[in-house]
Amino acid sequence: MSEVTDWRSRAACRHTDPELFFPDCTAGPAIDRAKQICDGCPVRARCLDWALSNGAAVGIWGGRTEAERHAMAAASTQPVRRAWRWSPR
Ligand code: SF4
Repeated sequence: MSEVTDWRSRAACRHTDPELFFPDCTAGPAIDRAKQICDGCPVRARCLDWALSNGAAVGIWGGRTEAERHAMAAASTQPVRRAWRWSPR
């Protein structure tokens, strides 16, 4: 496993149904449940950084929804993050 992806082996969600992190909604209990798992994740910051740096446009990463990450990216001083284009569902 590469250094880039080895943080995933410590993810709190590694044995969780991935569907939980890619809900068909933008708010509600499903998102709250995913965020609860992220809250206890030892690699939350790394996950969020990866999502912001790679423009992960869908799903919950680092405890943040796509709309929340979009707001973070828009406010970022890092060009790679500011350049991220996102369209609300
Ligand atoms: S922060 Fe959330 S989505 Fe990211 S690895 Fe941890 S549990 Fe999974």
